[in-house]
Amino acid sequence: MHRPHFRRTKIIITLGPASESESALERLIQAGADVVRLNMAHAKHEWVRTVIRRVRAVSARLNKEVSIMMDIKGPEIRTGDVAVPYELKVGELFDFLARPQPDRPASEVRSVSVNYADIVKDVAVGDTVLVDSGLIRLKVLEKDADHLRCQVLVPGRLGSRRHINLPGVRVNLPSFTEKDRADTLVGIEEGIDYVALSFVREGRDIDQLVSFLQEHRSRARVIAKIEDQQAIANLDEIVRASHGLMVARGDLGIECPFEELPILQRRAVQTCLAHGRPVIIATHMLETMIENPVPTRAEITDIANAVFEEADCIMLSGETTIGKYPVESVQVFDKVARRMEQVEAAGYASKLSLASDKLKVLRSAVVMADQLLAAGIVVFTRQGFMAQGLAALRPRHSPIFAITNNLETQRQLALLRSVDPLFLTFSSQPEETVLSTLKLLKDTGRVEAGAKLVIVSDILASNNQLVDSIQLRTVG
Ligand code: PGA
Ligand code: MN
Repeated sequence: MHRPHFRRTKIIITLGPASESESALERLIQAGADVVRLNMAHAKHEWVRTVIRRVRAVSARLNKEVSIMMDIKGPEIRTGDVAVPYELKVGELFDFLARPQPDRPASEVRSVSVNYADIVKDVAVGDTVLVDSGLIRLKVLEKDADHLRCQVLVPGRLGSRRHINLPGVRVNLPSFTEKDRADTLVGIEEGIDYVALSFVREGRDIDQLVSFLQEHRSRARVIAKIEDQQAIANLDEIVRASHGLMVARGDLGIECPFEELPILQRRAVQTCLAHGRPVIIATHMLETMIENPVPTRAEITDIANAVFEEADCIMLSGETTIGKYPVESVQVFDKVARRMEQVEAAGYASKLSLASDKLKVLRSAVVMADQLLAAGIVVFTRQGFMAQGLAALRPRHSPIFAITNNLETQRQLALLRSVDPLFLTFSSQPEETVLSTLKLLKDTGRVEAGAKLVIVSDILASNNQLVDSIQLRTVG
C-alpha cells in the first residue's frame, strides 16, 4: 500500500517517565508527535520547566516545532490518604468525610476524608458516588454536615488520593483554582502554546482563563476539556468561548452513561466543525498498548473513526507516560490515520457558517484546490487566523502550507488538521516572499517542479491598499 507523504490528523503525546528523556522525545517527535501535553495533575513546577526547555531544544535540533499544551486540572475532588488500601465489599456501608476526623471512633463504619467540604451540600441522598475512574460505585443513603453515608454497589480497592466523580451533580468548586493559576503562570513563563482546562462547565469558565492569559500578556490559546454532563448541556457556548475542544472520554465516560459516549463524541466534533474550532479526541485510544506492542482491532477502528470524523488531533495519555511502547503507539496512530485519510470523510465542515468575507474568500481557495487537486494551499499568516480558517474548511486534497514569520504562531498551528506550519522571514516585497516560499517548499521536498499551488495572500493595490488575493501558481 502506497504511504501518503502527508498526514492530516495531528498526534498529541502526554509526557511522563516513558517519554520525557531527550532520546525518547527525539524518537517520538521523529515518529510523528505534533503536540506535547503536560498533565498538571501530576507535575511539579521544576519538572515542567525542565521538560519544556528540553522539548524546545529537541524540536530545534530536529527542525520540527511542536506545540506544548499544559493541561490544568480544574475542579477535582479527591479522597484523602488511607494508611492501607481498603477492600470495599458489596453492601458495605462507607462514609465520605467532609474533613479529616482524627478522633472518629474506630469501631464505626469505615471512612475516608475528601478534599472538598461542601460535598455534603452538593450531593443529595440517592446520588451516585464513583471512585477511581468509576471502578468503585456507591449510593448515598444519608448525609449530615460532616459526612455522606453510602452503600457500596460495585466493590473495589480504595487507595489514597483517588479521583471522585459525581455524575450529574453541579459541584460548587471554582473552575479555575489557585493551583491552576500557579501552574498556568509557570507555563506562561516557559512559553506554552495551549492551556487545556479540565472539567469546563460553562463558557464563563473559559472567559476567566482567557482574561488571565491576557492579563499576563500570554498568547497561549485555550482548549476546553469537556468531561461531564454540564459541559454537554452547555456545549455550544463552551465551543464559542474557547479556541478548541478536547473530548475527554475518560471522565466523560464515567460522568455520562457509557452508551452515550459515541453520540457525545460525534456531537462535540460536529459542533466544533460548525464553529471552525479544532477538536481533540482523547483517552484510551490505544490503552492496551500500555502493555502490548500491538493494538486491538477495536482500538484501530476507534482511531479510524476519529479520523473519519475529521478531528484535528488524536491523543495518547498513559500510552506515552508510563507505557512500554510509546514510540510504537505513535507509529500506530500515524499509520492508521494516513490510511484512513485516503477514504472519504464525514464532511461535517459543510455546516461551517461562513460568517465573514474573509472566510468566504478562503472557501473559494479551498474549492479551487479541491478542483485542481493542488499540491498545496499556501497561506501567509502572522497570527495564524488565515491558516485556522483554511483548516476549518477541511480541504479534501491539499495540505495547507502555513507560512509565518512568527515562531509562536508556527508552534500553535502544529495542532491544526492539515496544517504544515513553516517559518520564513517575510520580505517587504510580496513577490519575493512568494518566491522564497516556493523555494522553501521545493528544498524541503514538500513539492516538486510542475506542482500546482493555490496561494492565498494580501497584495498591495493602488493607494497602498491591501487586498485579498487567490492565485494559482505552478512550481518552476
Ligand atoms: P485527564 O483528562 O487525563 O486529565 O483525566 C482526559 C479524560 O478525562 O479523558
Ligand atoms: Mn479527565
